[in-house]
Amino acid sequence: MLIDGRKEGAIASGQSESYTVTPGRHNIQVRLDWYKSEPLELDLVEGEEVRLECGPRTGISAELNAIVSPGGALYVKAADETVSGSQEGVWSKIVTLADQKLAEYSDAHTSEHQLETRRTGIHLFISYRREDSPDVCGRIYDRLIQQFGKEAVFKDIDSIPWPAYELFPMEQYRLLRMPHCTHSDFVMPMLSGRGCTFTCNFCYRMDKGFRPRSPESIVEEILYLKKEFNISYIAFSDELLMSSKQRTIEICESFLKANLNIKWDCNGRLNYATPEVLSVMKKAGCVFINYGIEAFDNDVLKKMQKALTINQINKGIEATLAAGISPGLNMLFGHIGDTRDSLNSAVDFLIKHDDGAQMRTIRPVTPYPGSPLYNYAIEKGLIKDIRDFYENKHLNSDLFAANFTELSEEELYSELSKANIRLMENYFENKKKLMVEQTQHLYSTRDASFRGFRQA
Ligand code: SF4
Repeated sequence: MLIDGRKEGAIASGQSESYTVTPGRHNIQVRLDWYKSEPLELDLVEGEEVRLECGPRTGISAELNAIVSPGGALYVKAADETVSGSQEGVWSKIVTLADQKLAEYSDAHTSEHQLETRRTGIHLFISYRREDSPDVCGRIYDRLIQQFGKEAVFKDIDSIPWPAYELFPMEQYRLLRMPHCTHSDFVMPMLSGRGCTFTCNFCYRMDKGFRPRSPESIVEEILYLKKEFNISYIAFSDELLMSSKQRTIEICESFLKANLNIKWDCNGRLNYATPEVLSVMKKAGCVFINYGIEAFDNDVLKKMQKALTINQINKGIEATLAAGISPGLNMLFGHIGDTRDSLNSAVDFLIKHDDGAQMRTIRPVTPYPGSPLYNYAIEKGLIKDIRDFYENKHLNSDLFAANFTELSEEELYSELSKANIRLMENYFENKKKLMVEQTQHLYSTRDASFRGFRQA
């Protein structure tokens, strides 16, 4: 139960609870998982008692005790009976009755929402589609097997409510550190969309396609995070904010128009990293772009279906650095076509463009179930099945789950070990240089803004 946006207690199925509030105007909402009902506004006089009912609009499974649907899925409303003046003193009383049972409720509301409940063994999916808006559809999380139903996804992702930020310890969460945030920045991850427009063969995808949020919806959430929690840095954590040049520019222009004045980072694509795009990103506050490069060899890139070339990688990174944005450089090793030479080219490239923002290491390519590379591994007999993958092959993301190269396993590990040692030595050499310079600067200039050696 939320009263004026604050959690005041919990109410279980079939139970009644009483809450006491001061006279005056109040907003009453119910929340289930991360969904909230529309607020019910009450204006209470001293001593007034109001009886309310709440429940799910689309039905609830008592077995799962969970419902996932857009914001309007829950309701709180006045019950038929209103009792006035039954209590002495200055307080008013709100009595809220809990939800009705699924069968009763779905009988009464099938005209409003078409429900489909399906059981197959231990799998239980409930999917629905709103009759008034067929594009709004959803699915209920199956807690029994920790799996999502596959029938439908939200197409209009602007209709998905934001996380219930107020229920998290935001004072601690906002201390998340990301590349190029300062000690005074408060950071929060956010999604600008879901999915990706590319089809790299090692990438497992929960859902096909790309579902962007509108720039307005992104701006609205950032404004809320700024106002409520003083967030000054947004870490866009979805697969790909830079999904096209046009969309990237649109998002940045909406940030500038709203005068957001925040820092942010995102995942990006080097084939869209042109001076024109990067310049508007920089103006809109972008400080770091995490690029999935994955290989510095045209043959391997082609086999990965990465839709990138060495030429695009070089140009994109140079343009990013020239725009004053720090690039994140991610590389894999052990893909079909990888050799000692392709690994050494990747290490040389990383060292050449390292700006010290993050320690770079190269990780083995992993054929996650759901990816075309996993199917290839099954075909070639490198992995037997999903059980074999999780129980015997994929034991740690820094170890190889399968060998797709012509090198022996011994050679594979020995080459990766040499490569990562080179990268670490480079990182710590740079760090050492930076700290020596910082120390000299501190004592030679008597720098009063210095905040300690551990902050370097
Ligand atoms: S690896 Fe990145 S660019 Fe490639 S399909 Fe996955 S999310 Fe998209």
